[in-house]
Amino acid sequence: MNLIVLLHTQTDGSLPKAAFEAVTAAKQLNTPFAVGILGANAKAACDQLADAGATAYYAAEGDALAQPRYATDVAAAVALVKAAGADVVVAPQTLRFARALPGAAYRIGAAVDTHVGSLTAEGDALRVQRWFYRQRILGSFTRSARPWVLLVDAGIFEPFTAGAGAANATVVDAGITAEDERTTVTGVQAPSADGQTIRPDAKLLFVAGAGWTKKQGDGNMHLDEAAATITGFLAKSGASLGSSKSLVDMPEAAKVFSFMSHMNQVGQTGSTPRHPKGLATCCHGEEPHVVGWRFINERRAVNTDPNCGWAQGKADVVYVADAFEVMAKVNALMGQ
Ligand SMILES: Cc1cc2nc3c(=O)[nH]c(=O)nc-3n(C[C@H](O)[C@H](O)[C@H](O)COP(=O)(O)OP(=O)(O)OC[C@H]3O[C@@H](n4cnc5c(N)ncnc54)[C@H](O)[C@@H]3O)c2cc1C
Repeated sequence: MNLIVLLHTQTDGSLPKAAFEAVTAAKQLNTPFAVGILGANAKAACDQLADAGATAYYAAEGDALAQPRYATDVAAAVALVKAAGADVVVAPQTLRFARALPGAAYRIGAAVDTHVGSLTAEGDALRVQRWFYRQRILGSFTRSARPWVLLVDAGIFEPFTAGAGAANATVVDAGITAEDERTTVTGVQAPSADGQTIRPDAKLLFVAGAGWTKKQGDGNMHLDEAAATITGFLAKSGASLGSSKSLVDMPEAAKVFSFMSHMNQVGQTGSTPRHPKGLATCCHGEEPHVVGWRFINERRAVNTDPNCGWAQGKADVVYVADAFEVMAKVNALMGQ
């Protein structure tokens, strides 16, 4: 096996956390590997991995690669894989690589598998695990096809702790043509840090369900109070915000819960995020929702209904309580 760990820098020249995780994924194979990095300041970024134990370092950098762009990223990825003579490519499943590497794989006639959750070496062969059918079936397989490109999901491997050093990376010409640069990145539109409620690196997933919009004990709805309580907790805890389908489908909730969108929906027709802990509030815990909690290790729920779905063996701890009261108290305690 001739292995390369293929990485990219971010626009500021730093390596994303997922890059260090991909290094760990490769190192635990106990097979010699090269490192290839594309993007802004890629050669300097190789130095960050100088003590990773790679046999060789390759970098593709320059203005054309400073921004993520499909055509130029594909050209650079192909050039780096060829320079290393690699037949197995391990790369992080970042947005940038999820977009570009399947195209690069096609150019070099490689097989490609995305969302890899585990990889082990069996002699010269590799065994890979990934989930299928919305995380219901765990597949374990190997391929004889080479080259083979593997995109490793973030949040699975411990990030490699880098020391300083000099990697003496070989700078590779990505062979970028004028045509590759037809698309221009004119800027980035991103919500403000507070508005960004989906935080993949957060320790806690905080799920808000439709109960926040229901008539409460006094016979009234308390949408503004609900919105303030939820956003207050998110700001204090740094938790990532998840939702049930019922809540994001509700037009009246959309007006008040403007911080919430369908992107937050967790479940069968939503996302399957990875976080060490999860807290569900005002959410019933029906199976189509809870199936999205497959990768949440410790689960707790606050619900007024002692017979809610969470209490049917779906959560480690269920607090039978009013989430308005509980979260107001939690916010007050965190504010101290
Ligand atoms: C094909 C299909 C796909 C689906 N995909 C998804 C999916 O991807 N994600 C998803 O979430 N759902 C999905 N659903 C819908 C799912 O079955 C449920 O309808 C949905 O999850 C219910 O949302 P909820 O628990 O927020 O709302 P509800 O069922 O209305 O539950 C609200 C809960 O809030 C509690 N509550 C109310 N007030 C309070 C309070 N003050 N304190 C504490 N608790 C309170 C209530 O006791 C109740 O349990 C899917 C359904 C189908 C058929």
